[in-house]
Formats: sequence, structure tokens, C-alpha cells
Amino acid sequence: MSDDAKLPGKVSGIMFDLDGTLILSNRRLGSYQVIPGAVELLTALQAAGIPYLALTNGSAYPAAKQGPRLRDVGLPIPDANLFTPNSVAARVFAQRGVEQVLVLGTQGVADALSEDGIACVMPGQAGAENADAVYVAWHPDCNMDDIHAACGRVMEGAHFFTASDVPFFATQEGPAFGYSCAISGAIARVTGREPEVTGKPSAHAMGFVAEQLGVPVSEVAVVGDDPRVETEMARAGGAIGIGVTTGTTSREAWAACEEFCRPDLVIGGVAELQVLLGL
Ligand SMILES: [Mg+2]
Repeated sequence: MSDDAKLPGKVSGIMFDLDGTLILSNRRLGSYQVIPGAVELLTALQAAGIPYLALTNGSAYPAAKQGPRLRDVGLPIPDANLFTPNSVAARVFAQRGVEQVLVLGTQGVADALSEDGIACVMPGQAGAENADAVYVAWHPDCNMDDIHAACGRVMEGAHFFTASDVPFFATQEGPAFGYSCAISGAIARVTGREPEVTGKPSAHAMGFVAEQLGVPVSEVAVVGDDPRVETEMARAGGAIGIGVTTGTTSREAWAACEEFCRPDLVIGGVAELQVLLGL
């Protein structure tokens, strides 16, 4: 970091991506490693009373599952600061007055929504034919009956949401297949309707983050390793986009980003953010 590096604007709250930003996950081994400086930064933010949260695009694990795993490897993040596209979806469903959601996802996805007060039903269950919204999320076991049921509801006018429409997400081991994108793409092709995305980089996700942090979106720093996920969301929403080089994007790759996903600032890692914040 050069001596004259500074934050591009007033930062009153921070959204972190998880993988590549605060931790590195090894999918093959199913393990995590904390990125240098992450523990110190979260501890300092907590002490300074600066609100922060982590929003991952993975919809498989609710905070109650993921939180303990992160704390086991030393990252001091409370469950209350951990969010997924399911958290964003629950907020949007409540805003829209959705009464029952047909969930194409694992039981964990339905459980996460239920915990946020959303009535859920799975394809084939009683009431599925009356659902007024369809939500596609992590669903490795999705079958054609599920897709058929979802198409039926969408064609009848139900709201249509997906956790993510990223076809492949970057991991340390290379690109991983995005189930939500594949499934919602099939429904879109059949019904002629495109889903609303609840995860990053959607406007729904950006609005959720600012509301949770309780600060204006222009004072939210969005810190992540993926230009098409975090910094695209920050740019579109008017937040401060900060790219890190600890994940899947190198300094050269950040410099080559097109305008719509170019970060306001690139740092070597979250340790540098602590210095910039003067903590
Ligand atoms: Mg990431």
C-alpha cells in the first residue's frame, strides 16, 4: 500500500464478502483458513462501534450453521452479523406481502426463511399449488418435478426470485457451478419470465446491507474479491467499492475491470483497511 492511499469517501459501515476476503475456503477439504488481518480488523471494528456484516452468496448454510464453523477457525464474527441471499429474500417477501413461498432449495434454505417468519412449502407438499412466490436457491438435488411445479406457479403469476444468477462462482479450486442460476434459467426459458435476484450484486442485496448496517448506502464500504459480485453491486448502488487481492482477482485483473464493476480502491487485503480506517 502506498503512503498516500486513502479511503475514497466517508465509511460509516462495512459489508464484507466472506470467501477470498475474510477467509479462504478449501471446498475439497471442507475447511477454512482466516485471511491475515481479518481477526484484528473485526475486533477493532467491534471496539470502535463501526457496524459491519458479512454477506455471502452461498445460500446453503444459515448463520447458525456457518457462524460456529467460522469461529472455530478463529474469526470473531457473531451469527447476527452473517447473512445470505435467504436473509435478503425474507426481507423482500415481507415487503411484497408474499404469503407462501414455493422453495426450490434444500431444507436448510426453507429453515432459514422460516426463521425469518416466511411461510414456506416444498414442491409436492400440501399448499404448493397456492404459493404466491417461487424462490430458487441452493438445490443440488433439484429434479424435473420441482422445475415443473415452479413453472406452473410462475405462469399463474407468482413472484419469481433466485438467490443468484451467476453461472459459475470463483473458488480457489477454480469455477464452481451455480445451481440457482441453472435452475432459475430453466424456469425462465419455459415461462418467459426472468427472476429477481436476491443475492449479490442485486439492488435488493445492496438495500438490505445498508438497512442492516443502519447507514446511508453512500457511506457503506463493500469489500470483496469479485468485481462481478461485490464491486458491481457497490457501483450500481452508489456505495464505496473496495477490491482485495487475497481472493480470485489479481491487482492486474482489478485494473483491467470495466467501468461498471471497477472498484473505488484496491487493497492487498483487509489488514490494509484497518490502517486506512485509522483503527
Ligand atoms: Mg468472494
